[in-house]
Amino acid sequence: MKGEPKITVGITETDEIKGILEGEFYVESLGPLTGPFSARIEEGKIHIFDHSHKRLDFPQSIRLESPREAIFTLISVPVGKGFHWERRVSSRFQGNLILMRTSGNRMTLINEIPLEDYLTSVVASEMNSSLPLEFLKAHAMMARSWILSLIERKDRDQKILSNKPPMNGEVIRWYSHESHELFDVCAEDHCQRYRGLPKGKFHRIREAIEETRGQVLLYQGEICDARYSKACGGITENFETAWEERSVPYLRSISDAPFSFPPLRTEEEAERWILSKPEAYCHIKDHSLVERILPELDRQTKDFFRWKVEYDQEELEEILREKSGYDFGRLKEINPLERGPSGRIKRLRIMGSKLNLVVGKELEIRRWLSRSHLLSSAFTIKREGPRWIFYGAGWGHGVGFCQIGAAAMSLRGFSAEMILRHYFQGVEIKKVY
Ligand SMILES: [Zn+2]
Ligand SMILES: [Zn+2]
Repeated sequence: MKGEPKITVGITETDEIKGILEGEFYVESLGPLTGPFSARIEEGKIHIFDHSHKRLDFPQSIRLESPREAIFTLISVPVGKGFHWERRVSSRFQGNLILMRTSGNRMTLINEIPLEDYLTSVVASEMNSSLPLEFLKAHAMMARSWILSLIERKDRDQKILSNKPPMNGEVIRWYSHESHELFDVCAEDHCQRYRGLPKGKFHRIREAIEETRGQVLLYQGEICDARYSKACGGITENFETAWEERSVPYLRSISDAPFSFPPLRTEEEAERWILSKPEAYCHIKDHSLVERILPELDRQTKDFFRWKVEYDQEELEEILREKSGYDFGRLKEINPLERGPSGRIKRLRIMGSKLNLVVGKELEIRRWLSRSHLLSSAFTIKREGPRWIFYGAGWGHGVGFCQIGAAAMSLRGFSAEMILRHYFQGVEIKKVY
């Protein structure tokens, strides 16, 4: 690799934005720009206003070039769309700001930033920065591998078609990261959570990033597509349960504990597993420890190892109709047809008075069965009269690195390398720039 690459991050899509430029930014055909600014779409063009309300319009895109160390703030940006933590935040960013007009009179805000600066923010947004340095280093190496592998695939491969039209009564979807056209990654959990410059002290994260600069995970000489999610629930999941049908050797299911659990092969075994509370790295019994592990945004989610969600019949029918776009009529049965080794459902049959459909994969199942998203697709359903009770395990897709398990391992003294080798079997660590 020729050195540290720059990457583009899609922050949000909006029709209007206000912000502040700290330092002198440069805009082609406008010159220097500093202080408060706003931009909005009018008559099919992007209009930008500076503090003296001088205005300029651009047909397609505007690039605000930042000198090194300059920072810009975006005010009240919508984040977390569709998830339970959806809100508006103001954030500060380093690097360049690009505004691009998209269809429907909207614009996409893009932050162009050197990779290592981007990683500082990702690690700070994903987890609590007071965790042991070995955890922060492991997270940095993994996040670096993930994005470099994504950029390599983008350059090399054709786009993978992930949304097949419904066939034979099945809706099987997954969301590939190669799908972003205007930028490399988005700022949401779909890719990696990115909230600009971390708030508060982040010197320890800087230290973790600097100590591991350019270091990535390799498998047979290739940079690993290192996936991660919040908590596996005791057993991690295979790649193909969440994404396309291929086996990725370093993204195979493992037991997230010092010993191994027998694989879950039948519905009975999955149910027994989900209703039990086994010892595992991500099984955090002490709620005060959750505060040490998770960033503020995620702390409201305390029961993630095992969880429970209840609906009334009508409520669930309404959610299904709204989220899937299909009218099932009176809901009769919901049955898992196929599960991965962690208990996560890959194909789920939904039977109603008007329609029977099979839905997959794990994220689409989670999306259809909740107003936000179910924490995971590792669930079993009990019915009590008109109540539908979902008992579940884990938080996220469960493939690869278990963030909460890894944090717990680091608190028990495991090194960054030991943690990474536990979740990604057979990988090596190497510096590529
Ligand atoms: Zn994305
Ligand atoms: Zn775990």
